[in-house]
Amino acid sequence: MDLNKEEIIEKLNSGEIRLHEIEKITEDANIATDIRRQFIEEKTNTELKHIGSYSIDMTDAAKKNIENQIGTIQVPVGVVGPVLINSEDGETLEGYVPMATTEGALLASVNRGCSVIRRSNGCSISIINNQMTRAPVLKCKNVHEANKLKTWIEENFINIKEVAESTTNHGKLIKIDPVAIVGHFVYPRFVYETGDSMGMNMVTIATQEAINYIEKENDLHVIALSSNFCVDKKPAALNMIEGRGKSIIAEVTVPKEVVEKILKTTPEAVVEVNYAKNLVGSAIAGSYGYNAHFANMVAAVFLACGQDPAHVVEGSIGITTAENVDGDLYFSVTIPDLPVATVGGGTRLETATESLNIMNVKGSGNVCKFASFVASIVLAGELSLVGALAAGHLARAHQQLGR
Ligand code: NAP
Repeated sequence: MDLNKEEIIEKLNSGEIRLHEIEKITEDANIATDIRRQFIEEKTNTELKHIGSYSIDMTDAAKKNIENQIGTIQVPVGVVGPVLINSEDGETLEGYVPMATTEGALLASVNRGCSVIRRSNGCSISIINNQMTRAPVLKCKNVHEANKLKTWIEENFINIKEVAESTTNHGKLIKIDPVAIVGHFVYPRFVYETGDSMGMNMVTIATQEAINYIEKENDLHVIALSSNFCVDKKPAALNMIEGRGKSIIAEVTVPKEVVEKILKTTPEAVVEVNYAKNLVGSAIAGSYGYNAHFANMVAAVFLACGQDPAHVVEGSIGITTAENVDGDLYFSVTIPDLPVATVGGGTRLETATESLNIMNVKGSGNVCKFASFVASIVLAGELSLVGALAAGHLARAHQQLGR
């Protein structure tokens, strides 16, 4: 069909062309984006000039990242740092971290935390688990058959692994564990290493292949490729205990003088606020977030760096600890569920690429380094907020107690 812009909009109005079909006619995603936006402007009597002002190329984005696109949104982006990280392999990482947010004071606060970390000779980071999961739900005739299937899956792991890995160059099936049974339903949790990608597409394709094989060899019915036992994009105790994405810990020992000078409080006050707020407060709420605000840092860096924003719900899970060690402040964040990527997904978008380039972590071989930067600013943000609360608490205590 050889139509100009006005003719396409006319056919959109008459219903002859559907909104998602414009690319088929223009064969150019950038032109299709403009036409679709103009149609929506006319239909909704709005002016979308900011949504329509952007520099990214929609050609790949429209194939892999979005449908029915009308432009982009703009979120202010800034940097914090430099953060100083001592990683497990003895390498020292130092760099600025981009964060996109509309929450005023967030970057200022995290930046203060980065300063505390630098003055404490850096934070230490360990990645204790590295895995992405997909868990289908399979239905057997009865519980005996379900239990038999669980055993079959365990005994045939090598064959299942070979089938699953045939779909990917980088994905490795590490284990199928746990295999939960409820009534006659079986929930095998497929656990993969996914290289530098976050891996959800990769493990979904691989698990589909594995399930085809398991179905061929057993008497069962596949109810769904994804049950909620994965657990993708939901807060869950399973992810907190077993880990998902990168399970990562950052710690720092802050000298007493640095706590006093930068955070304007004392190690004792920080320890008490952390205990009463992050630990006891979270316990009475039944929360999985035994922390002050992991989600703030995770969301801002995810937005800047083209990570899947829905995974912030997973990155918000975790525990902050604080202890007085010989008068200094030992402070840590344990983040069990941080799905991150430096390859694939939204990382291919131009703005995400630029953000990842600020940390020199774009592309293959960099995902652990990127995860370390994310963990370091989570640590910085927690230090700064808990420190601020402790300083307020201390000020009030001074006022109330007259000392
Ligand atoms: P992807 O965009 O499909 O990219 C991953 C692919 O990149 C891999 O399959 C791999 O190919 C290739 N690759 C090249 N170099 C690599 C390297 N160094 N390490 C690892 N892989 C490398 O993305 P994905 O990470 O699998 O999934 C992310 C996307 O999934 C996001 O856009 C997210 O929003 C979306 N998502 C999907 C689901 C779902 O259920 N499908 C759920 C949540 C999110 P080979 O496999 O051939 O090695």
